[in-house]
Amino acid sequence: MTYPATTGEFSAASGPDPRHERSAVIDLEAIRHNVRRLAAAASPAKVMAVVKADAYGHGAVPVARAALQAGASWLGVAHISEALALRAAGIDAPLLAWLHTTDSNFGAAVAAGVDIGCSGWELERIVAAAREQERPARVHLKVDTGLGRNGATPEAWDRLVGEAVEYQDQGLLRVVGIFSHLAVADEPERPETDQQVAAFREALAIAEDAGVDPEVRHLANTPATLSRPDTHFDMVRVGLGIYGLSPFDGQTSAELGLRPAMTLRTLVSQCKEVPEGQGVSYGLHYRTRTASTLALIPLGYADGVPRVATGGPVRVAGKTYPVVGRIAMDQMVIDLGPEASGAALQGAEAELFGNGVDGGPTVDEWARAAGTINYEVVTRISPRVPRRFINEDERADAGNNLVGVPGKGAA
Ligand SMILES: *Cc1c(COP(=O)(O)O)cnc(C)c1O
Repeated sequence: MTYPATTGEFSAASGPDPRHERSAVIDLEAIRHNVRRLAAAASPAKVMAVVKADAYGHGAVPVARAALQAGASWLGVAHISEALALRAAGIDAPLLAWLHTTDSNFGAAVAAGVDIGCSGWELERIVAAAREQERPARVHLKVDTGLGRNGATPEAWDRLVGEAVEYQDQGLLRVVGIFSHLAVADEPERPETDQQVAAFREALAIAEDAGVDPEVRHLANTPATLSRPDTHFDMVRVGLGIYGLSPFDGQTSAELGLRPAMTLRTLVSQCKEVPEGQGVSYGLHYRTRTASTLALIPLGYADGVPRVATGGPVRVAGKTYPVVGRIAMDQMVIDLGPEASGAALQGAEAELFGNGVDGGPTVDEWARAAGTINYEVVTRISPRVPRRFINEDERADAGNNLVGVPGKGAA
């Protein structure tokens, strides 16, 4: 997926920049800050920045570049196609893709020097691709230590390791990594993480006995990076944290030293006075209690705002209001109350969530309103919302900030 570049895409002749109307503003300095924060927590382990799903909605290529600038040394994605898109953008850092089907393009991955996660059946495909490309594949063997998703079961592990070593001896592949994924690291008090760490150590011992000497052993995601140093091994795979969001229920981004990188904002589309009892949006599930002023916010579920999230916060002119009535495909409504007057706020900046530092609305509040997690809220912001990247250049300061976005100037 491609989003408009930061500058220059819209000339004066083509009219106003649509990113002024609505945008997800991505602060690349916040990304760099968060990577530095996570790298410090992980040290001496290395950092793999997980940029799958278009960097959780933030824009894979600019985020990958910013993460590498700030000290990440690897990138991780789910699909080979996501990895190939990063290579096509000129990014040549070590890059792992771990979720495949029989139709995945293993040949293109080998040709592009993309590391391939292997849970079992993929091994034959990977070896066939290496033969065809006349180039050894780079493989990370994955063991299922308890999550029950991909990865070889402990029973199948011996055999997978044995076969991989044979192919390695034949020069068809190199086992670069061994990895697994945690199930409950966001709940540090639960005992299952200890069991997964023990199972991972056993799998490593088996692989080492079979003659595997991996460059990187990796297990930790964001919550484990922040709460469990014993899961760090040689490298951590961090996604949520680089976007500045907290994986823990009781802890905010700020408490973890992280800065939310995405601001979702638009302009008030219409602002009008209505009488007491005015119904609002499909189903008329909300009615004004007094004569009041309604403001129309031109974002809806086609933009990725969850339809169920009535009550989610929108800040206009320094004050935060809950969404009233149903969220529709393109729009939603806030009730400014009886004190507001007429069209005063038409065209005003409306912020759904941002960095949260000045008491503004947060991704976490939207997640609560929608009955989901912060991961899903940002990841689902749809391609209809243009991404606008600020602080792209490490050396630049406030010069390229978006005028009118609250709280972005000092980041
Ligand atoms: C998505 C993913 C991660 C990143 O998890 P976060 O909780 O976002 O840090 C790490 N490893 C794997 C295998 C993943 O699928």
